[in-house]
Amino acid sequence: MEKLFGGIEAGGTKFLCAVGTGPDDIRAEIRLPTESPELTLGKVTDFFRCQQESYDIAAIGVASFGPVDPDPSSSAYGHITNTPKPGWANTPVAPTLQDAFDIPVGFDTDVNVAALGEHTWGAAREVDTFVYLTIGTGIGGGGMVNGELMHGLIHPEMGHIAIPHDWERDPFPGVCPFHGDCWEGLANGPAIEARWGQPGELLPPDHEAWPLEAHYLALGVTTIMMVMSPQLIVMGGGVMQQKHIFPLIHQEVKTLLNNYIQSPTVTDGLAQYIVPPALGGRSGVLGAIALAQRALQAS
Ligand code: ADP
Ligand code: ZN
Repeated sequence: MEKLFGGIEAGGTKFLCAVGTGPDDIRAEIRLPTESPELTLGKVTDFFRCQQESYDIAAIGVASFGPVDPDPSSSAYGHITNTPKPGWANTPVAPTLQDAFDIPVGFDTDVNVAALGEHTWGAAREVDTFVYLTIGTGIGGGGMVNGELMHGLIHPEMGHIAIPHDWERDPFPGVCPFHGDCWEGLANGPAIEARWGQPGELLPPDHEAWPLEAHYLALGVTTIMMVMSPQLIVMGGGVMQQKHIFPLIHQEVKTLLNNYIQSPTVTDGLAQYIVPPALGGRSGVLGAIALAQRALQAS
């Protein structure tokens, strides 16, 4: 049998699982609601067992919501660690799959794996130092530095950087349970909903929410540019489905940079620099398939 790969995007609201080799070759796909770890990981395992009757699955990759432990030498490797999501703290996601299937299992943060998907098949094919941001239930950032996925002490937590908060323009205190008005606390989807009384998907494009959102997103993006000099910034997640805020972000980042960064990419305007994911909502699950391919090669 031909070798195929399993990909899992483990999200706080849904799990996406797929079997295949890439964007043009997905043989099976399933979307499962995120329930308890026992129920959801049980359904994930059932899905891949069922697929094994038709396909030879050589390795599995997991793109997980976090925080996670991505250090292979740690005893908690492959676990979701101190998440506030009820029931999911200290869940051994990769070990559970390893025990069930006894094949190589790759594991990383949702945003690092989405970045790998975009690097392999999407918007970031030509670059090796770039950031993938998701603006959704949380704000998360991952990506690559010199072609290596970003790890470190644990993994980046770009959503929790501090950004300027003008309390007169925006008296909203923020929603982050740890920091209040950090970047995520001011600009994630739940912050939009709490500030304006309606979720972003219901606010019209001319609502005053959007210039403020673009302002906060531009502040965070500018900081990330200064810190790591990425060659590209990919912005995905539910909130970025509001495509009309991209030009607002481009304009505001340009103003904040004030001609300081002298690269044609920046001085030509930022439309080719701050971009939506080319793989749309599938960066994570496709990245997980790419991660599975890497896990097999490494084994
Ligand atoms: P998750 O964070 O679970 O992966 P999403 O990226 O879809 O899921 O993020 C969900 C958040 O994004 C919610 O707060 C929701 O209100 C917001 N959101 C989803 N779709 C849109 C949209 N089209 N426009 C603005 N906000 C949206
Ligand atoms: Zn925070």
